Formats: sequence, structure tokens, C-alpha cells
Amino acid sequence: MYSRKGAGPSKDSSYRTDTEVHDGYTEQQQQQYTKYLKKLKNDFDETWCKRAKLNMDFTELERIKTLGTGAFGRVVLLKHSKSYKLYAMKVLEKEKIVKMKQVEHTLYEKRILEAIRFPFTVCMEFSFKDNSCIYFIMPFVPGGEMFTHLRRMGKFEEPLAKFYASQVILALEYLHFCNLVYRDLKPENILIDKSGYLKITDFGFCKILQGRTWTLCGTPEYLAPELILSKGYGFSVDWWSFGVLLFEMNAGYPPFYANDPMKTYEKIVSGKYRCPSSFNSDLRDLIRNILQVDISHRYGVMKNGVMDYKNHKWFKGIEWESILNCRTQPPFVPKYRGPGDTTNFDRYEEETITPASHCLFEAEFYDF
Ligand code: AMP
Repeated sequence: MYSRKGAGPSKDSSYRTDTEVHDGYTEQQQQQYTKYLKKLKNDFDETWCKRAKLNMDFTELERIKTLGTGAFGRVVLLKHSKSYKLYAMKVLEKEKIVKMKQVEHTLYEKRILEAIRFPFTVCMEFSFKDNSCIYFIMPFVPGGEMFTHLRRMGKFEEPLAKFYASQVILALEYLHFCNLVYRDLKPENILIDKSGYLKITDFGFCKILQGRTWTLCGTPEYLAPELILSKGYGFSVDWWSFGVLLFEMNAGYPPFYANDPMKTYEKIVSGKYRCPSSFNSDLRDLIRNILQVDISHRYGVMKNGVMDYKNHKWFKGIEWESILNCRTQPPFVPKYRGPGDTTNFDRYEEETITPASHCLFEAEFYDF
């Protein structure tokens, strides 16, 4: 969550439209798309209200290796012994969650992962708990973190940055439409599928937003000024983080950075940053409209909403519906040598998971 380290949608989620393709995105296209978003929100609300069914025999899951680590545990690759299907299992230690006062966030994370269904977000297939840990089982996304590829390439070429940025915009539009504020957007939390499309992961800070919220959470370089200033905030914080991501994808480093997080916060609230000379005027204009300290001037939360992005000059040439349906050829496809290949992930020391002999924190995780 805090640390900064050193395929296509399913058939029923595909979006069909009979409007013509124009340069830019028309009001009519947006109206039609909003109907589709309403359907997705209904699906979200229905799943949110009902308890998920569990229909998996966990003894049939074979542990392969660790893919990543987080504040409360690790994510491991699993193979189903009969179907050979691969899964990523997030293992969270109850004791650590309780110590870090994250019980509520974790219960939220589970319910959100169960209920969201969008081409550019991960989702939950199964979950369970034992005496010591809780477990989230998700489809395996084999291309690794955007972070890894960004550091390896230095920065992204503009077509690749545009391709990724358009998917993040659609994902945020979907989440916000479902009243979800994500609160931890950064390259470490964006995975690349084997096809080259994105999946946003780690919903540990995501919550349903009613009005405003005050919790200080996220990653220093990506925090919005209104969050740092404890003013009470809403969806605007995700758009600010998107501005930081857009800058980092194109520059290779974030716009506000210092060794000491307090200095980073000072830079953020001042709203002053410098674009590298490689940024063209359209990109500068877009970033300037997002990294606005005053939220009433920030793209994404003004009266035109997401249309300010969909019609911005920097996105000229992006066909939003083709992106949504994963029909645009990705400018970069990660290497994937076949099922179970984990070369896109760092290596981690393996640790056995031995549950305690009695149930820990039963009351706290009763609702899980
Ligand atoms: P998280 O705690 O959710 O941020 O996950 C920690 C790390 O585990 C991520 O940054 C990824 O490297 C990896 N990871 C999480 N979910 C998946 C997944 N569904 N497929 C592949 N790797 C994953």
C-alpha cells in the first residue's frame, strides 16, 4: 500500500453501440454509455447486498510461488489441480490487520472485490478464512506491475501512456459511478494482463462514498492536496492521483517528490511542479487541468465530468469504445512464456503458511 519499491472483457461485459465513431466523444455517445454504466452499477449493487457463495474445494489448489508482498501478507500464485486454472491468492494475516487498525478496510476490500466487474479492474473469484489468515482468490494477471515495466523502460512512449491513461480513466469513471472512491492509484497497483491491457488491483483503501470522507490514506507522492490538508474530500482525490500517474508514465518520475514525506506534502499543497522538456503542449495542458489544487478547477469533477478527458486534445485518436472492448491493439504486450510464467514478477523468499491451532480474532472477522 504505502511502499514505493525499487485480455479482453468477458462476453457479457462487452459494450455495444450503434453510434458512429467520431473524432472525440459526443454527448450522444456518453449518454448511451451512461446507460451501460447504470446496468453495471445495478449489478454492483445487487452483489454488494448478497453474501457470496463459496463453491471451491481448497485442497485442489496447489501453491506455486509468491508474486508480491503487501503490508499484511503476501500474494501467491496457485494452480487448480483439475482445471489447471491459475489464480493469485492474497493472504492477509488477521493479527497484522488488527494491529494496524485496518479491519474495516479489509472487510470492505473483500466485499468490493466480490461486487466489481469491469474490464480494467481485478475481481474476486473466491474467498475464505482460517484460524490465522483471510484469503482472497483472484484471476492471475501475468504481465506484472506497470511499475516494473515503467522502471525498466525509463518512461513510456506517448502512445503507450495514452493507451494506459484511457483505461485508467474508464476504470475511475466506472468506480465513481458505483460511488466507490479508490484512493491508492499508482503504478504498483496497476497490473498488465497477458494481452497488454490493464487491471487495477489492491482495493484496500477503496470505499463507498456518501458525501465526504476524512481518512488519511494512500501513498505520499500520489496524495491530493485536499487529503493532506484534512479538508474532507471526495472523488477528486482519484483524479489528482491520475494526474500524478499521467505525469509519471510520461516522465519516468512523479511531479512532487522529496526524500522526506513532509517535504513531498509541502510541494503537493503548493501545486508547483516542472514538466520535462519532452512534454508537448497538449500533455502539459492536460496535466495542468488535473493537478489543480483548487478542486473546482480540476478535470473529472467539473460540470463536464469525464467528458473533459474524453475530448481533450491529448487523447485525439483514442477510440474509447474500442479501448473498452479491448479491440485496440496494445502498443506493448508483456512477454509471457506460457501458463505459470512468473518472470514479470520479482522474486521473493517463500514462507510456509501455518494457521494457529485456535481461531484468532474471531469476532473482528465474524462478517468475513
Ligand atoms: P496487493 O497487496 O493487492 O497490492 O498485491 C501485492 C502485489 O501482488 C501486487 O502489486 C502484484 O505484484 C501482486 N498481485 C496482486 N494481485 C495480483 C493478481 N491478481 N495477479 C498477479 N499478481 C497480483
